[in-house]
Amino acid sequence: MSHFSYRNGVLHAEQVSLQALAAQFGTPLYIYSKAALVENYSAYADACRKAGRADAGALVCYSVKSNSNLAVLNLLGRLGSGFDIVSGGELLRVVAAGGDARKVIFSGVGKGRDEMKLALEHDILCFNVESIPEVARLNEVAGELGKRARISLRVNPNVDAKTHPYISTGLKENKFGVAYEDALNCYRTAAALSNIEVVGIDCHIGSQLLDDSPLLEALDKVIELVDALEAEGIPIHHLDIGGGIGIRYDDEQPVAVGDYLARVFARVDAWRKEKYGGRQIQVMFEPGRSIVGNAGVLLTEVQYLKHGESKNFAIVDAAMNDLMRPAMYEAWHGVQAVRQDAGRAQVYDVVGPVCESGDWLARGRELAIAPGDLLAFASAGAYGMTMASNYNTRGRAAEVLVDGVRAHLIRKRENPSDLFALESIAD
Ligand SMILES: *Cc1c(COP(=O)(O)O)cnc(C)c1O
Repeated sequence: MSHFSYRNGVLHAEQVSLQALAAQFGTPLYIYSKAALVENYSAYADACRKAGRADAGALVCYSVKSNSNLAVLNLLGRLGSGFDIVSGGELLRVVAAGGDARKVIFSGVGKGRDEMKLALEHDILCFNVESIPEVARLNEVAGELGKRARISLRVNPNVDAKTHPYISTGLKENKFGVAYEDALNCYRTAAALSNIEVVGIDCHIGSQLLDDSPLLEALDKVIELVDALEAEGIPIHHLDIGGGIGIRYDDEQPVAVGDYLARVFARVDAWRKEKYGGRQIQVMFEPGRSIVGNAGVLLTEVQYLKHGESKNFAIVDAAMNDLMRPAMYEAWHGVQAVRQDAGRAQVYDVVGPVCESGDWLARGRELAIAPGDLLAFASAGAYGMTMASNYNTRGRAAEVLVDGVRAHLIRKRENPSDLFALESIAD
C-alpha cells in the first residue's frame, strides 16, 4: 500500500493526512488513492500493450462489484477500462459514470428479463451466459426487441483455485457456469438460436488467487474447447479468463499482474501460431480486487477501550456493516494507528458497535491507542463499501478520493432519515 505512508508520524493517503480527513469528513470513512488506482489498472494495460495488444487485441473489464463508486468507475473508464457487471444496477452505474456500455460484459447466474432488456438497449459488448435456460430467455428477450444478443458461455473448468471456499467458483460443486463436459452441447444449442450470436468463451475460477497456475490450467482447458468449437464451425472471437488475482493483506506474495498476463499472452500466442496461422483472438480480463483492494483504507475512531478478564477490546465506530469481510470470511485486514505513538501497546480485539458477536474487524492486534485515536484498516478498497449494509440502522460511511494534496468527497455519509425514507406506516 505504497500510497499510504507515515509522514511526521501521521498516516497519510498520498499527501493528505488521515487526521485531516477525519476532521473534515468524520468517521467511519473510506479513503481511496487515485495514484494507486491508476497504478494498479496500468499494470494490466501495460502488460497488454507489451504483448502487442494495445487496441482490439485485449480488453480489461474492471469488475464493478469490487468497488462501484461512480468516481472510481469514471477514473477507470477514462483510462480505457471496460466493465464486468453482475446486475442491471451496475450497468446504470457504469453509464452514470460516463463508462462505455459497448465495453460492458454482463456476468451472473440469475439475470432477470428487465436486466437483459436494459443491457440490450445499451448494446453491451457481451452477455456471459451461465446456463441453457438463461440463453433461451435471452433469445426471447432479444427477439422481442428485434436485436441479437452477443454471448459467451461461462464454462466451469473444474480446477481448484485453492482459495477460501466462499470465493472459489470454478469447481464442479459451485453454482457458476456450465460444466466443462456440457459446454459443447450448450454452444450447439446457443448457436442455433436466431437472436443469439456466439462470440466468446469465459471462465472465472475464484478470487484472491496468489498463484496463477490454476488460472493457466483453466486457460488450457478453455483453449481445448475453443479448438473443438472451431472444428464444429462455431468460431470464437474472444477468450475471457476472468478476474481473481489476489493482493497482499498480510504477508501473502501474490503473483505480479504483469508476469501473469505475460504468461497468458505467451500461451495464447503460441497456440494461435500453431493452430490458426497467427490469427489473433481477443483476450479479456475481469480484475476487481487487484485494482482497488490496496488502493483503499477504512478510517475509524476508537470509542472505548474495554479491558475484559481474558481479552482487551477496542470498540471503534466502524463495524461489520461497514467492512463485512472479517465477519463473512474471517478475513484478515492490517490495522494501523494513524498517529505513530511510543505509548504502551496492548493486545486488542478491534470490534464495532453492532449487536452481534460476529461483529469484529481484527483480533489479537498489538496497538498503542487511547479513546479518540484513529485507526486505519488496510486493503479495504475492494469488497468493502460495496458489501456495506444498513444493519442496526447505521448509515453507510462516506467515501473520499485523494489525488495528491486534494481530497474529493465522492459519496456523502448516509443520514438515519435516508435509511427509512422509502418506508411507510400501514394504515
Ligand atoms: C467477482 C468477479 C470478478 C472479480 O474478481 P476479483 O477476484 O475481484 O478479481 C470477475 N469476474 C466475475 C464473473 C466475478 O464474479
